[in-house]
Amino acid sequence: MTFSFKLRAPIAATLVLGFGCTSPEHPSSPSSTQPRAEWALAIHGGAGHFGEEDLNPEQQKAYDSSLSRALELGEAMLERGSPALDVVEIVVRMLEDDSLFNAGRGAVFTSEGTHELDASIADGATRNCGAVTGLQGYRHPISVARLVMDSSEHVFFSGHGAGEFARTQGAEPADASWFDTSKAYERYLRAAAREGDDPVPLEEKRGTVGCVALDASGNLAAATSTGGMTYKRHGRIGDSPVVGAGTWADNRTCAVSATGWGEYFIRTGVTQDIHSRMLHGNQSLQSACESTIFDEMGALGGDGGVVAVSADGQVALVFNSAGMFRASAVKQGQEVNRQVAMFGPYQR
Ligand code: ASP
Repeated sequence: MTFSFKLRAPIAATLVLGFGCTSPEHPSSPSSTQPRAEWALAIHGGAGHFGEEDLNPEQQKAYDSSLSRALELGEAMLERGSPALDVVEIVVRMLEDDSLFNAGRGAVFTSEGTHELDASIADGATRNCGAVTGLQGYRHPISVARLVMDSSEHVFFSGHGAGEFARTQGAEPADASWFDTSKAYERYLRAAAREGDDPVPLEEKRGTVGCVALDASGNLAAATSTGGMTYKRHGRIGDSPVVGAGTWADNRTCAVSATGWGEYFIRTGVTQDIHSRMLHGNQSLQSACESTIFDEMGALGGDGGVVAVSADGQVALVFNSAGMFRASAVKQGQEVNRQVAMFGPYQR
């Protein structure tokens, strides 16, 4: 286990922060006695079957610096008072442009040698959401999902219709070659060589990105973006664009972004299950995430994890896979508590 706790000097800027909770009839975190954090942020870059021995020091450094950069961007925005919804979108855009991850540039190939991108975004203040699946040819699927939420009367577009919507909204196009990377292509070739033989090994499949945030006004948001699973069949939809399975935000409880074996996350409605445990079962964020990941999704045979933040700014980074690329920052008083980590095992 290689948790690296980095406690840097407190941020000098002083903000005037509101502590109003949006829904007095639902306590922000059922079992919490702590005052609400000023803001909080958590990021993932995918979960999978990797241990320390699978990544050489250079690769570890590359992941550490990509996650740290994304964390710094989100922190700076939250410190300036930006809304959580903007923060999660902008952080995920940065990760979509980073070819280390399976989202945007660097997305995995389908069995047909294409990239079909999935993304969703959720706003805890309004409980509105937007999602796209099977999107092709747009650089930032997360921003197309945001446009679906903000500029349409619908919440979910697929395939050709998603592309048409993106075009009419002026979303930034990108050539198919923008998404191609040698790492994803090598995985595709390895998977193709196995067709009809062994299944694609789990460690070859994943690397979704996601971000959750609580902002200074007490609003929560979540965003998730992925290329899906290596060698997925044309038209296959995972959990990442499915609000309630891969993404969730509700100011009464939490914001959650998931990563892992999508079929199992859909079958157990992971992100909504975490919310419901908090809302109806009075569970804390940590306990709700652990129950869902281990006793529901994991018990069926799935694997992966979630990053989550509660309405009072607690953060949970929970996974039952060997590793999960993850990072978080919480500002409590003048102190910012940060962590960036990759490996497990997760100790329940
Ligand atoms: N959950 C994603 C999917 O099933 C993959 C991942 O998170 O790695 O499409």
